Parts: sequence; C-alpha cells; structure tokens
Amino acid sequence: MKLEFLFYPIQLKHTFRIANYARNETPCVFIKLRYNGFTSFGEAALPPYLKVTPESCEKYFKAVNQLNYFNNLSLEVGEFDLSPIKENIGINTPALAAIETALFDLIGKIYNKPVWEIVGSDSEKMPVTSCTIGIDSEEILKLKIEEAKDFKVLKIKLGTKNDKNIIEIIRRNTDKPLYVDANQGWTDKNEAVDFIHWLKSQNVLMIEQPMSKSNLEGNAYITQNSPLPVIADESCQNLNDVYDLRGAFHGINIKLMKCGGINEAQKMIALARKQKMKVMMGCMTESSCAINAASALAPQCDFVDLDGAWLIANNPFELPQLEEGKILLKKESGFGLVPKPDSDIFFSL
Ligand code: MG
Repeated sequence: MKLEFLFYPIQLKHTFRIANYARNETPCVFIKLRYNGFTSFGEAALPPYLKVTPESCEKYFKAVNQLNYFNNLSLEVGEFDLSPIKENIGINTPALAAIETALFDLIGKIYNKPVWEIVGSDSEKMPVTSCTIGIDSEEILKLKIEEAKDFKVLKIKLGTKNDKNIIEIIRRNTDKPLYVDANQGWTDKNEAVDFIHWLKSQNVLMIEQPMSKSNLEGNAYITQNSPLPVIADESCQNLNDVYDLRGAFHGINIKLMKCGGINEAQKMIALARKQKMKVMMGCMTESSCAINAASALAPQCDFVDLDGAWLIANNPFELPQLEEGKILLKKESGFGLVPKPDSDIFFSL
C-alpha cells in the first residue's frame, strides 16, 4: 500500500479577513490510500501562518512511502503505530494529520464502523457548531449572516480598532449568540477586560485568543478578570502547550492541523480535562474530509467551530449535514465521506 497525493488549492467563497491579514485561497494536499478494495482519504490544509508548504508535505509523503510504512502496519481498530513517521515531524503536523485521517478512515471501512464510535464519542452529545464571520463591510457582513442561516452561533473575528462598530453592525442584523475571536489583536489588557464586559451584554458567550501568544501574562490577566471563558488558539499548538497554559486560559482550541491528528487531540482533551480546562474543536478553511475527521471528536468538546467546509467554493466532497445547528454524525463506516461526482478524477472510486 502506497499513499497517493494531490495538490488542491482550496478556494474561499469570500476573502478571509482577520486582524492584519487577508487571503482568497488556502493551499491543501489531499491523500488517498487504497487497500483490499477500500479507498480512504486524508487532507493537509495549509494556511500560510503554519509555514508548511505543499512541497514540504510532498517530501514527507514520499519519505513515508519509501519507509514502506503502510505495508508494515498492523491494521487494528483504532490502534496503529505512528511513531515511525512521527519522529522529526517538526512543523509538518498537517501532513501527519492527513495520514492519520486516511488511516482512521481506512480502519473504519475495513471494520465497518464510523470513526466517531471507534474514538469513543457519543453522537448525542454533539455541541452546536459556530460559523465564522470574517471582518468585512456591512454589505458583505449581511450576506455572510444570511449564508450562515443554518448555524445557531456565529463566531466574529475582531482584533481591530473598529471592534465595537463591527459588533454593532452584527447586532443590527442578527440576535444569534456569538463567539468572538480576537486573533491576538488586542494590545491593552485592561481595555480588553472592559470590552469583554460589554461583549457579554451583547450576548457574546466566549472569547478566543485576546492577546499575542508571546504575552502569556497579558492573556492570563484577561482570563482571571473576564466574565466570559477565554480560549487559547494561537497559544496552543500541541500537548506540551496544554501543560504550559494551565491557569493562563480557561480552555484550549484544538485543531487537527496544528497538533497532527486525532491521537494527539485525544491526549490534549484528556490533559485539558485533568486540568479542569474547557475544550474547543476548531478548524482551518478545509474540506469535508478534515471537517469530518475533527467532527468525530467534537462530542467530547465544549465548543465546536467546524465551519471550514461551508466557507469554501471547491469542496471535492459532499458537505456534512447540519441538524439544529449540529453536525450530524452518521452511521457510515470511516468518516462517511462522499466524493462529489464532478470532483477531480483523483477521487473517482
Ligand atoms: Mg482562532
């Protein structure tokens, strides 16, 4: 068994704007494994701030094929040894996540089980997922709110000089509960605490990454004085960070691309719970492939922000189904991915 891979730039429906940054495309590499008549998929979504390129993923995938890793692997339910391909992974965590996703998908298909069941999730406990609204003009914000009509919570990107104005525009157009992601954009901890009190009065339920990840003291001060839960995103990449953030944030935002996949994410959830921290499952702009993978663990989290597949224009797979604003976990084996009939030939089964 060898993995096949394909560079596939993900096109965004709208320009993605956060504090000090904008883009229209996210580089991405899909992988496919074929074994005994089964086909499984994985995805490495590569937003530029991760600094991982499609070329570095390609180099890594070729090295894994050369190791003959897949042929030496025992395909037991939920247990496969990633250690031979994990050493010196460095920043290439999205490539590792892609391989792990394809392996979970394959094992699910071989044993005819959905992955969420393999990883011990209770499909009845799925929280609602938020839909992200990036920084934009009032006209575009209105359009995005309309497009997000099936979602019960919106996540608003702030961290600009205009934050109050953005929330006022949102509130003129919807009364849905909100999460706020400052994306490290706030610079004064006392102003931030005052502003969070105001946000609470606007039915905001949670704050993500208020200050720079380099300012642990500032983030910790905000956490200690905030009337709303404060969640680490840029500050939390992997398991080691979860230890370091105890007391500095109320919780962590786990993304498979940051941490390297479901196994690492499960360890992060376990440690966060031990430290009495909240857990959020987040995503990049990515297709249904990576979204379905993250959804398998989402019922074990407090907050879910798995909207990536709804924000892109060229998803090669069918969208997950939403029910009352929650991603529906289906009984299909693996991640239940369905390639669209018109998607690239690479995905034809
Ligand atoms: Mg964030």
